[in-house]
Amino acid sequence: FDKDWNPSLWKDCFEELLDQELDHGDEWTLGFNYRQTDEVSMEDRKRGWKVGKQCAYGGFRCGRCSNTWWSAKVTLVFRYRLRKTAEKGTVIMRPFGQSCRSCHDDQDVFYMAGFSDDVVDRTLLQLFKKIRKNCYGEEQDGSDVPVCDNVRKTKPHKKELCEACQQGICCLEE
Ligand SMILES: [Zn+2]
Ligand SMILES: [Zn+2]
Repeated sequence: FDKDWNPSLWKDCFEELLDQELDHGDEWTLGFNYRQTDEVSMEDRKRGWKVGKQCAYGGFRCGRCSNTWWSAKVTLVFRYRLRKTAEKGTVIMRPFGQSCRSCHDDQDVFYMAGFSDDVVDRTLLQLFKKIRKNCYGEEQDGSDVPVCDNVRKTKPHKKELCEACQQGICCLEE
């Protein structure tokens, strides 16, 4: 699959899954903010914002050299809230980037990953599960831990190459 960040793929899958996953009659939308962290201020909390984090398997391409790589530890942060009176729900996503290990010494750039349809689907299903629990109070079975894709072997995670590690909010920290 494509090793380039593709927000419209996420938006399309989000739209597709909505009807079956969040059928409470509210209008949910997905947006992006490439600066958000996993912190929720008191003010935001009062307004109903919640935050969730996931680990996903993604592919990267360096914009400078020809290096490409895979990582099972791409941190994704989702901020979401439901405004019941407006019947509107909002999800804001941020994918965290990684640096190229070949030219990390010469540049300090984080690239964003591309994800397969399958990973996007699974990640969003997990997100919808959390939304059903935290915004609609549905009972959930099982645990609430972030799903890490540990099955696939990738090179050991390097803190200095991971944008989320640099900010101390990597999905590995949980
Ligand atoms: Zn490179
Ligand atoms: Zn990390």
